Amino acid sequence: MKYLSIASILLFTAYAQAKSLTVYTSRKEHLVKDIFKTYEKETGVKINYKTGKAGALIQNIKAELKDPKVDIFMTVDAGNLWYASSEGLLESTKSDVLTSHVPAHLRDRDNRWFGLSVRARTTVVNTNLVKKGTNISYEELAKPEWKGKLCLRTSKKVYNQSLVAMLIGTHGYDKAKSIVKGWVANKVDIFSNDTNVLKAVAAGQCAVGIVNTYYFGRLIKKQPKLPLAIMWPNQKSYGVHINVSGAGIVKNSKHQEDARKFLEWLASDEAQKQFAQVNMEYPILKTAPQTDIVKSWGEFKPNTAFNLTDAGKLQKKAIKLMHEVGYK
Ligand code: FE
Repeated sequence: MKYLSIASILLFTAYAQAKSLTVYTSRKEHLVKDIFKTYEKETGVKINYKTGKAGALIQNIKAELKDPKVDIFMTVDAGNLWYASSEGLLESTKSDVLTSHVPAHLRDRDNRWFGLSVRARTTVVNTNLVKKGTNISYEELAKPEWKGKLCLRTSKKVYNQSLVAMLIGTHGYDKAKSIVKGWVANKVDIFSNDTNVLKAVAAGQCAVGIVNTYYFGRLIKKQPKLPLAIMWPNQKSYGVHINVSGAGIVKNSKHQEDARKFLEWLASDEAQKQFAQVNMEYPILKTAPQTDIVKSWGEFKPNTAFNLTDAGKLQKKAIKLMHEVGYK
């Protein structure tokens, strides 16, 4: 017994002076490794991390909740972040830095998670099949003019669930349903990932696909001659649907303050540059520079009216809607 209590005092002391933080992340290792190293170099705080699928990491956190081994959960898509917070796994964090750096529509209303980089779910066209200046929108793609011209990724991906959640939030359930029903009627095929959607568009199998910007960036970097171009949708209405990668502090983390400092650093100018650039994403901070390739896609109007907390809240409805219209 005596030994045990000494051990716990030692453990407590170690916790009180955090020289390390642990992050569970669904981001690929090569996207986070260097930025974690930069932080270590600057502060002496070691960042330990474990990577995996978002769902599995959420289950891990849930299982460890009474005595968490992790301080920060970092993942992509507001849908995943919202799910973790709705399961009671994330702490609400009070930070003027985070609330001033991260725009309100890109973080949780209760400050349990914060967006750290932005990706746009845009339309990409085959430049031989779609004329420049064509008016394109998520709603347009449901019209009969696009029959047999649309490539979609599976409805099982959270990116599409959040996109449909945005349509529900914007138009209401019934109108959103008629839009998605139109997509299904117009689709050529359904693909397992965004890159395969892009390859089908490039091959002329369809004229247009809906994908995240960085997948376009990755493919075009490798094969710059492909007849593909981003055509920003909804520029005459509410703007392109955007989503985030982001993070929150895990409930009962023993290093809340250090974890908050780390998140604040990730939202700083200097870290934003590195964090967004590595995956060809957009920084949260308007002042942080973009990479040349991202800049080359031009300015666009993002949808700032839709609060990403609702992408999570409406997720179940989105899944139901897609099921009802036969979007596989
Ligand atoms: Fe992705």
